[in-house]
Amino acid sequence: MSEPLIYELSSPGRTGAILPEPDVPEFELPAELLRKELPLPEVSQIDVTRHFTRLSQRNMSIDTTLYPLGSCTMKYNPRINEDVARLQGFAMLHPLQDAKSAQGAMRLMCQLQMFLAEIVGFAAVSLQPAAGAHGELTGILMMRAYHRDRGDHKRTRMLIPDSAHGTNPASSAMAGLQVVEIPSDSRGNVDLDALRAHLDDSVCGLMITNPNTLGMFEEHIEEVVRLVHAAGGLVYGDGANMNALLGIAKPGEIGFDVMQYNLHKTFSTPHGGGGPGSGPVAVAERLADFLPGPIARVKPGSENGDGTNGQPLYEWHMPSKSIGRMRAFWGNFGMLVRAYTYIRVHGEEGLRAVSQNAVLNANYIQARIKHIYPVPQGERHCMHEFVAQGKFADAPGIRALDIAKRLMDYKFHPPTNYFPLIVPEALMIEPTETESKETLDSFVDALLAIAAEARNTPEIVKEAPHTAPMRRLDEVRAAKELVLCCRLDTVG
Ligand SMILES: *Cc1c(COP(=O)(O)O)cnc(C)c1O
Repeated sequence: MSEPLIYELSSPGRTGAILPEPDVPEFELPAELLRKELPLPEVSQIDVTRHFTRLSQRNMSIDTTLYPLGSCTMKYNPRINEDVARLQGFAMLHPLQDAKSAQGAMRLMCQLQMFLAEIVGFAAVSLQPAAGAHGELTGILMMRAYHRDRGDHKRTRMLIPDSAHGTNPASSAMAGLQVVEIPSDSRGNVDLDALRAHLDDSVCGLMITNPNTLGMFEEHIEEVVRLVHAAGGLVYGDGANMNALLGIAKPGEIGFDVMQYNLHKTFSTPHGGGGPGSGPVAVAERLADFLPGPIARVKPGSENGDGTNGQPLYEWHMPSKSIGRMRAFWGNFGMLVRAYTYIRVHGEEGLRAVSQNAVLNANYIQARIKHIYPVPQGERHCMHEFVAQGKFADAPGIRALDIAKRLMDYKFHPPTNYFPLIVPEALMIEPTETESKETLDSFVDALLAIAAEARNTPEIVKEAPHTAPMRRLDEVRAAKELVLCCRLDTVG
């Protein structure tokens, strides 16, 4: 690296900020809180600005390039979301403020709950969970509580298709359930015979990701739901893939009992190093009393206005059989404001167009590459994403990882790779609806060019990336021995 590190720019006494005269008495900090040696760089404001701006440019981001990371829905985050989340009335609220002085925020939460319930066809929503996997755990705890409440203590097994997201078995195990894997059939659907064979009165329920991680809509979803219900189990829908279904299909109407949303995917709040998540849960009527709380609601009897400006009065409410709190305070409120804004800006027609275009874009890429890159379910239309394979019969040395790395030289973020586990050398591609045809075409052109390189000049692909700030990393070591601070003695 040629640029100087921020520590090398340090010069004693140089500073980037001028603090005002204190208007409170000076106070000696307890000695045990003070360190003698605290080698912070002493640098000017422009050094700091350039340092962090340069660092930010070393990473790929949705603001600089297509980010087709399957299962992650890296869509563009509209800037109006940020404007609204920064409104003083929202940004300066304190979570311990009493409800009377937070009526506007509670109204937003109430309306968001209504929108979310409507979009998926469920009876009630809690906004508490902090992200998708946290929403899964919340939903499973409600399923367990429901069975116990009915005196049914035998139900300790959770059935999970092998095409589910990895967080599904993890959340189930965390909730103390035994995970049973259900295989997929040759079309990428749940194998119905295998499902039938596992259904009995020890089944808590089925957790299903639909569309599944192969990007396929379950062709027998209604039959799957019917079978599980007939055995007394509940159906959990992993709603992280809602980007394919907005305004088109409602999991609640298909018969699901509970699902989580990933607001940070479907409803465009920044994620993946860019911000916290938010994973509200929605439930059918029979699970509504078990939702985590407190939940914002209109105070009964105040519908016609007891609050400010003729509005109803909003209050916090704990459902009667609530599994309790899943999170301190009220959820990741800033994300709720962004998701609310996104839904209001799009409206019903706009949300439907989001999913239609997300599905169209994924199918467009699939159709253009499937003759070169094997696509195991390529005879079907995909939903908002699909899984190709990064391997070629006539270029045996090349793997999915090589293709992913080489894409960085073409200035594209790599797709998800080696997931889902049921497809060898998986490249899971999700372009999202926010990309233009020109961008999709240049991404496809890059993939086709890399496929040609794999045959003609494989070493270029094997040794990629060539243009990234770092070459190929030891990824296991990078994850296990994470270096988070930039110090001369660690960077070397
Ligand atoms: C992203 C994702 C999850 C997990 O969501 P997090 O917010 O990362 O916890 C679960 N299921 C599916 C299908 C996903 O794509």
